[in-house]
Amino acid sequence: MPGGIYRCSDGHLFRRTVLAMLFEANLGPQRHLEKCPVDGQLRVVKRVNQDELTQAQLAEVDANSRK
Ligand SMILES: [Zn+2]
Repeated sequence: MPGGIYRCSDGHLFRRTVLAMLFEANLGPQRHLEKCPVDGQLRVVKRVNQDELTQAQLAEVDANSRK
């Protein structure tokens, strides 16, 4: 499923659906404050390029996105 990968200021990686990405476009798509889905804390969340991630980081994305 297409979507975007994000990293919170605490280093957690997770995936967003396209719908969530469209919703947040009103707030500023690149960098904004929101609740991290991994630890539930309010963090600065930034979009990351999937091509820049290692296989281990991509595995972390998948693990975090299943929660
Ligand atoms: Zn986090």
